[in-house]
Amino acid sequence: MTEGGEQIAVRLAETGIDVVGVEAELVGGECPYWACIPSKMMSRAGNLLAEARRVPGLAGRTEVAADFAPVAARIREAATDDWNDEVAVDPFTGKGGRFVRGRARLAGPGRVEGGRAGVLRPGRCGASHPQIPPVSGLEQVRYWTHRQAIAATRCRPRCWCSAVALSAWNWRRRSHGSAPR
Ligand SMILES: Cc1cc2nc3c(=O)[nH]c(=O)nc-3n(C[C@H](O)[C@H](O)[C@H](O)COP(=O)(O)OP(=O)(O)OC[C@H]3O[C@@H](n4cnc5c(N)ncnc54)[C@H](O)[C@@H]3O)c2cc1C
Repeated sequence: MTEGGEQIAVRLAETGIDVVGVEAELVGGECPYWACIPSKMMSRAGNLLAEARRVPGLAGRTEVAADFAPVAARIREAATDDWNDEVAVDPFTGKGGRFVRGRARLAGPGRVEGGRAGVLRPGRCGASHPQIPPVSGLEQVRYWTHRQAIAATRCRPRCWCSAVALSAWNWRRRSHGSAPR
């Protein structure tokens, strides 16, 4: 159940239709837990540091000390609920929808197979394994995917794979004060 699927499922359940939602990981999908929202929190933090460093010479004095801990905490507390999807599952089951945690597949017209019947409670989920491109030599490099980068509690200097690299790099560059005025 992605964000779109979640909205549709809730609205259908509201009409009284018997709706079963199946989710392999976390309801809402990538965006709220590993992508759009937490990565923007990283970007916002980096931008804020850069902006604060522009104050001298323009508007007074500032002293800026970068710290990734509040960024990581905000990602846990304000975006992902520590990777717990209760806030997404509850509105659906509250409308009468039945929720199954597991992997399903379309098995023909009107037929869905799989899931793990009986698992009706919201749950926590760790990072899974995104597809890694077949780049020669990549297996010898220690890299992070976007999921590891989003869940990090320290901003490490090395290598990122995927779109979150931009957000993480933005933070890192700006936390070291190299942003242009
Ligand atoms: C770092 C990063 C930043 C991004 N920032 C932005 C942004 O700012 N703005 C923007 O518009 N987009 C952004 N994106 C892209 C956006 O996250 C994706 O386009 C979006 O999440 C795709 O949504 P989706 O619903 O197609 O799939 P997903 O979000 O991948 O959701 C699919 C869901 O279906 C579940 N699922 C899949 N197969 C099964 C199965 N067989 N059985 C049960 N469940 C299953 C999955 O577990 C998952 O919960 C970003 C992406 C990344 C990586």
